[in-house]
Amino acid sequence: MKKEFEFINWLRSQKINNPINLIAGIGDDAAIFSSPSNKEILISTDLLSEDIHFKLDFTPPDLLGHKALAVNLSDIAAMGGQANFFLLSIARPKTLPDSFLTELLRGMLELADTYQVTLIGGDTSASVDKLFLNITILGDSFLGKAVKRSGAKVGDEIYITGQLGASALGLELLLQGKRITNNDLTDIEKQALLAHLKPQPRLEFGKTLAIENLASSMIDISDGLSSDLGHICEESGVGATVSLSSLPVFPSATINQALNGGEDYELLFTIPSENNTKLNILSKLFPDLSITKIGIITSDLDRWLIDGKRKTPLLAKGYDHFA
Ligand code: ADP
Ligand code: MG
Repeated sequence: MKKEFEFINWLRSQKINNPINLIAGIGDDAAIFSSPSNKEILISTDLLSEDIHFKLDFTPPDLLGHKALAVNLSDIAAMGGQANFFLLSIARPKTLPDSFLTELLRGMLELADTYQVTLIGGDTSASVDKLFLNITILGDSFLGKAVKRSGAKVGDEIYITGQLGASALGLELLLQGKRITNNDLTDIEKQALLAHLKPQPRLEFGKTLAIENLASSMIDISDGLSSDLGHICEESGVGATVSLSSLPVFPSATINQALNGGEDYELLFTIPSENNTKLNILSKLFPDLSITKIGIITSDLDRWLIDGKRKTPLLAKGYDHFA
């Protein structure tokens, strides 16, 4: 097995892009970068714990590397920001082979390259028996342009990108024993497995919404629509009604998976209704991404699901680590 310094030297030898505002990356006690005065810094972190967030028996290492970075990029997307740099901390069980780490980094750096984000440091430790991955992501947005959870106003329309429930369906299939390497998967099964194992952050769309000043609030779907809409409503001091028939449910996913499954990493956002023509025009720039209106922000502080004439409470039933 590689020694810690050999691992770090190996990391430094990988193809890592080198933007002009990076003054010192991996190799010093701290990284240094400069940042333009018309921008604000965004910073966020996510921890992935083995057997809580992923299981090694069904997670290929390159896809784990991809996902660890993707979920962090998704947080920057949800602010409408531009992602720039990240730090990676790894606690590695002694039994994990070098080849696993090499593959993990390959998948991660491939995604980093796609979005031109740069690995600028991290920390490396041993762990007794589980793998832990932590990424801290740094991004920026123009002054005052970042989109918070707290800006939704009564009458705003609620939208979602993509489809819901694919990731939860993918997890269910993995737990049933399906693997991404199986060659008898249906198209739907394959898409669901990839939605879970290889989520795509909506960075470009989020950034465009923010630059065009269209969204009043935004969040990414990590816990599940019911919980994440709850976060917007609570932070904004408003309520919401969601129409069941308009929900973009992934084919063969259940309503429960779509509402509460989580890990779709789609963007949930609100816009003042006068912006909907502009949103329509903007959505044409993203022909591969569906954008669906699912409801409306209300003054009644509760959240409701409307199904024809039936109205049921939309309770936050997404993932809770401490539940
Ligand atoms: P220190 O003793 O100051 O923590 P380290 O020996 O841990 O320094 O790290 C040396 C350099 O390698 C630092 O620049 C650090 O940011 C970087 N580094 C360490 N582990 C990782 C990692 N897992 N990913 C990226 N960079 C790392
Ligand atoms: Mg260290």
